[in-house]
Amino acid sequence: MSSSLQQELIASIRNIADYPKPGIMFRDITTLLGNPRAFRRAIDELVHPFAGTKIDKVAGVEARGFIMGGAMAHQMSAGFVPIRKKGKLPHDTVRIAYSLEYGVDEMEMHRDAIKPGEKVILVDDLIATGGTAEGATKLLQQMGADIVAACFIIDLPELGGRKKIEALGVKVLTLIEFD
Ligand code: AMP
Repeated sequence: MSSSLQQELIASIRNIADYPKPGIMFRDITTLLGNPRAFRRAIDELVHPFAGTKIDKVAGVEARGFIMGGAMAHQMSAGFVPIRKKGKLPHDTVRIAYSLEYGVDEMEMHRDAIKPGEKVILVDDLIATGGTAEGATKLLQQMGADIVAACFIIDLPELGGRKKIEALGVKVLTLIEFD
């Protein structure tokens, strides 16, 4: 990916200091999503490495992973699977606890959303500590998914999330980094 495209994507993201709490620099992708060229180019970059690979499902993590995952699934002619916070999905689910910066939460997906052996791409907007993506990866692996890659627009490398996911045997693709 060219550095000019990386600069364009970085410039399309809004940075909000001390949100949602003091000390956090929130990387707001709604400005990227609202920019037609940046949105298309980000999605193009995320699907490009998988051209020629049959992907069965794109699994997106609530909520920003739904927006990116829907666009990626359409472009890859794949199905879309929502991974949601507990209690939001209407049918029989599988659930996993995952670690947040402070404490734990649970996420779930429909039990019949993935068939064993299906090739799946996991997507979220950003990977920080990797706790969220680790939970989603383990949930998909429990259901027998063959996770081809986990994709994110933004990596915060200092927080070590990428290594956590790679340790589960999953390739990680990110487009830009912030300190
Ligand atoms: P983590 O589980 O620590 O990797 O955090 C990743 C999840 O939290 C993703 O769903 C992100 O959308 C959100 N997140 C964490 N840190 C930030 C941040 N600095 N700016 C925006 N979103 C964040």
